Amino acid sequence: MRIFLFAFVLAAASVQARDTVAIDVGHYLEEPGAISARGRPELEFNRELALEIDSAALGKGLGSFLIGFDGLMSKLSSRAAAGANADFLLSVHHDSVQPHFLETWEYDSVPRLFSDRYAGFSLFVSRKSAFVRPSLACASAIGAALRHAGFSPSLYHADRIPGESKPFADKANGVHYYDNLIVLKTARTPAVLLEAGVIVNRDEELEIQSESVRKRIAEAVAVGLHRCLSGRRTRTGTAE
Ligand SMILES: [Zn+2]
Repeated sequence: MRIFLFAFVLAAASVQARDTVAIDVGHYLEEPGAISARGRPELEFNRELALEIDSAALGKGLGSFLIGFDGLMSKLSSRAAAGANADFLLSVHHDSVQPHFLETWEYDSVPRLFSDRYAGFSLFVSRKSAFVRPSLACASAIGAALRHAGFSPSLYHADRIPGESKPFADKANGVHYYDNLIVLKTARTPAVLLEAGVIVNRDEELEIQSESVRKRIAEAVAVGLHRCLSGRRTRTGTAE
């Protein structure tokens, strides 16, 4: 009986100890985000990577669920509500560049817009969130894990040009402040937005579409999340 009780207490503790990540699929069918150099909507890239991060997170012992995977979630406020019961919200996106950098080429006999000027990942946190510190800790951990896996931050969002000028929160790990991003400032948990790569860049678009690269990105993101969420637990003795 005593052994049974002990096992029960252990099981209950491990259920309680599991951090859950809400993985938000950026954009929706009617407004699918950036269009890649070969004409593919960002929403499709976001769905593929979000699924991969979901399974990598489960593999690390994290709980995880997807928001907006069906492409029907048009209200940003619904995303914050959908993630309210998680411990963390990760919004998954793929990047473009400012419109004046775009050039035209022809792919499959269709004129398409591209820019090979920038490549790499970026991470964003909002100072208007009630959870700036834990958000930044996780953004830095994700950036560090991506770098360790061989990926590089794009860094161009800090450039002093119209539409950018997003100051660094952690330059080495590619983290910027983007205070007015609605999904970040309305999130009811610590939250980070990931731009996994620049899909208007012709080479990076192909890399990101390869399954092996997508798995490496997802694994690194899950490593970073696991590291920062368990670190927070160790520091405070319990999840915030
Ligand atoms: Zn996006």
